[in-house]
Amino acid sequence: MELLDWKNLPFGYIKTDYNIRCKYKDGNWGKPEVSSSEYIDIHIAATGLHYGQEAFEGLKAYMGKDGKIRLFRWDENANRLILSAGGIKMAPVPAELFREALFQVINLNRKFVPPYGSGASLYIRPLLYGSGAEVGVKPASEYTFIVFVTPVGPYFREGIKPVNMMICRDVDRAAPLGTGIFKVGGNYAASLRALVTAKASGYASTIFLDAREKKYIDECGPANFFGIKENTYITPKSVSILNSITNKSLIDIAGSLGIKTERRPVPVEELSTFSEAGACGTAAVISPIGKIVDPEKNMIYEYCKDGKPGPVTMKLYNKLVAIQNGDAEDEFGWMTVVE
Ligand SMILES: *Cc1c(COP(=O)(O)O)cnc(C)c1O
Repeated sequence: MELLDWKNLPFGYIKTDYNIRCKYKDGNWGKPEVSSSEYIDIHIAATGLHYGQEAFEGLKAYMGKDGKIRLFRWDENANRLILSAGGIKMAPVPAELFREALFQVINLNRKFVPPYGSGASLYIRPLLYGSGAEVGVKPASEYTFIVFVTPVGPYFREGIKPVNMMICRDVDRAAPLGTGIFKVGGNYAASLRALVTAKASGYASTIFLDAREKKYIDECGPANFFGIKENTYITPKSVSILNSITNKSLIDIAGSLGIKTERRPVPVEELSTFSEAGACGTAAVISPIGKIVDPEKNMIYEYCKDGKPGPVTMKLYNKLVAIQNGDAEDEFGWMTVVE
């Protein structure tokens, strides 16, 4: 019998056998420890709970046809967690410790890596928070780093298909000099009002605009935005967005496919000039956008009028997914075999 119904896995949490925990105390990181509990014991005055000293990462490992498990661009996630830690004054997790914890947790949970061809993958969630007790507002002197994994189904179970999004003008996710460039839980908390409103109106997500002028596209909830026109991949440059590793990878893939790329401010009005649009991130890789509604300006921008993702979007998507699954040559050196 199979361990799980791989073909029908949700994109959600499923318990696995082990997770890794590591503590920072007296200026040093301790050894990673293996735990089989899904729970943590946390001080009631931990800064992670009170003052939002918390950052996380999300990445995936894939089972190849050859039975090897491949991890996608873990070093990028390691560096981004170091950046996020610095952004909210936490002790950074050294890249080597990050790698060691990831490899260990994947190896301990090998049976949870979904089989090749199932469309599912192993989602890895590293988490760092202030675990030291402080009542006054200041950075903690102790930190905890945890890595857990959970097998996840493909974001689009019936295949990649366009979703609708709503432009949000009454909530800001992040300010220009705030924490938008860091992957911290606080940004997610700040986005929930807008996300809940969008979902209640039937949209997959919300599109945030730059907080200062409300003139430019920032990002699509927890994913970066891109538009396509005249064989060019265009993605916003902004000081308040999280730099997506998927986006960065799509830019490289576009280059290799002869598609031009631009990273620059994208004014809202430009939405009417794109032939395709999409959101990108680890969870879905790409969510093609069918329609963007801007209720306050009474505007609707439509793409994929035939209900299917556009050709450039599909070319980029297929190549990235093939590299991740180990089906295409790893020409950029992004994959690491977990042994
Ligand atoms: C994690 C995240 C993304 C996607 O980044 P990837 O590295 O591609 O997974 C985009 N926006 C926000 C706000 C995020 O937190």
